[in-house]
Formats: sequence, C-alpha cells, structure tokens
Amino acid sequence: MKAPEQVARYLKSEALPLFWCPGCGNGIILGSMLRVFNRMQLAPERTVVTTGIGCWGKADDYLKTNSIHGTHGRALPFATGVKAANGDLTVLALMGDGDCATIGGNHFLHAARRNINVTAVVSNNFNYGMTGGQYSATTPVESYTSTSVYGNPEGDFDICEIAVAAGATFVGRSTVYHVNLLERILEAAIRHKGFSLVEIFSSCPVYYGRYNQHPTPVDMMNLWKSGAVPVERYRAMEEAEQADYFPIGVFHSDDRPDFNTRYEKIQRAAEARMGERT
Ligand code: SF4
Repeated sequence: MKAPEQVARYLKSEALPLFWCPGCGNGIILGSMLRVFNRMQLAPERTVVTTGIGCWGKADDYLKTNSIHGTHGRALPFATGVKAANGDLTVLALMGDGDCATIGGNHFLHAARRNINVTAVVSNNFNYGMTGGQYSATTPVESYTSTSVYGNPEGDFDICEIAVAAGATFVGRSTVYHVNLLERILEAAIRHKGFSLVEIFSSCPVYYGRYNQHPTPVDMMNLWKSGAVPVERYRAMEEAEQADYFPIGVFHSDDRPDFNTRYEKIQRAAEARMGERT
C-alpha cells in the first residue's frame, strides 16, 4: 500500500494494514499525528516515540521515527530518560488509559510534577481493549465492561484534571470526531516546552461501545459529537447541566521552566562552586 506523499516520510507503509479493529479510533489519532509531524516538518531521526502495552501501544509499529516499545505503564519513564539525556530530541509517549492512568498512574503523576518536556498522547477508550475489555481507571462509574457486567463499582479518573493538578504545563482534550481540534492541540502540545498532555476520547466499538449501547463506529462518533462542549462553556454551566456533557479544548497552559532547564541551571551552579574550590 502506498502512503500519501505528505505522510510517507513518517508512515511505515510496509507495516499496513493497521492492526486495529474496523471503526477503532486509533487509526484517526495516528493519521492526525502523521499530518502534524508533516506540518511541523519534524525530522524522523530527531523524533522518538515511546509506547507501553495495549491497542494504542501498537502505534509505534507504523512510525518511521525512533521508537521504544516498552512494558505496560512504562512509556513515560522511557520517555523521561530519553529526554533528560537528549534535550534536543522531540519525544512523545503514546499511551492508552491503562498505560497512562491505571498501571502507569504513578509515573504519570511524576512526569507532570517534574515538567519533563515530553508530549503524552493518550488514547482514552475507557477500557483495556487489547486484553478483552476489562474496566480501567477511566471507565465511567456504573458503566459496563467484561469485568463489570452488572456495572462498574469504582469511580473514574479525569486524566486532564489530574494532569493539571499534578503540575503539567499544557493540557488539552479532543475526540476522534473533532479531528481539526485534535491536530491544533497536538501541534501546540509538541511545540510547548514542558510536560504536555493531549487526551483523546477514542472509539472502541468492539468492547466499550458494545457493552454500553454504542455498538457501531457511527454510534461512537455520535457519542463524541453530542457530548462534547468547549471547555470555556462547560466551566460556565451549572453542575447539574455538566453531567450530560464533557469538555474539550485547552484546559491549561503555563510557562513554568521544564526539567532540563532547571537541571542545567543547577548543573552550572554546581560546576561554578566546584571551580571555586579548586
Ligand atoms: Fe480499537 Fe477496541 Fe479493537 Fe482495541 S479492541 S483495536 S481499542 S476497537
């Protein structure tokens, strides 16, 4: 299969067709990433993606950038190591909700707190798709999965709110229906200097959708289309009204110094003190 010229520089055509189920949102996210890479003219040899395990964790199979396919929940530690040692590389950690907020939850908190200059691209499909549709930390309370067939008894995390609270300096959300917004946020996140997180509500008609009365790809798209409101409008709503919607857009952006900037400053100070002693 031959890739369109604009994305051929980044897409491993020989790995096609995609592994994902028909109607899965991951192909849409991958397409957006390829177009944003092309728009930014990122050099593939200066770009690194890290992944863990899960459906979206397969994304590195299709990219011509450098990649590290690691263990479950560890995409961010790998990304942190790469960026700390090679500050001029563009580094992205591609994670599902399991990798980012469930198994990888602790690493997520500390990457945000540390403000490491990495972009986390989180495909949130509200369940563990690859292993059979079990519930994760983002599965909405009382919704159905293969391990909560009578309803999920646990509360669910809001990944964007946690990222802001933990210290991330750029946080945004889109859906696989709102592709233009997704690409604008993704580009801004990659350009941002500091820990940036882009959450994408993604379709999993095969598991999450089928268990929750959205069994087709179109049903899932309608869910994103009808439920999303711009974050500014969402914040102005009464609490009761908010229950029927979810916010999309840029939640937070600030210019606190990133980890490498702070580390280099401390390193210079340490070298100056050592110079005084000799
Ligand atoms: Fe996509 Fe769900 Fe299939 Fe995984 S199980 S590839 S998330 S549709």
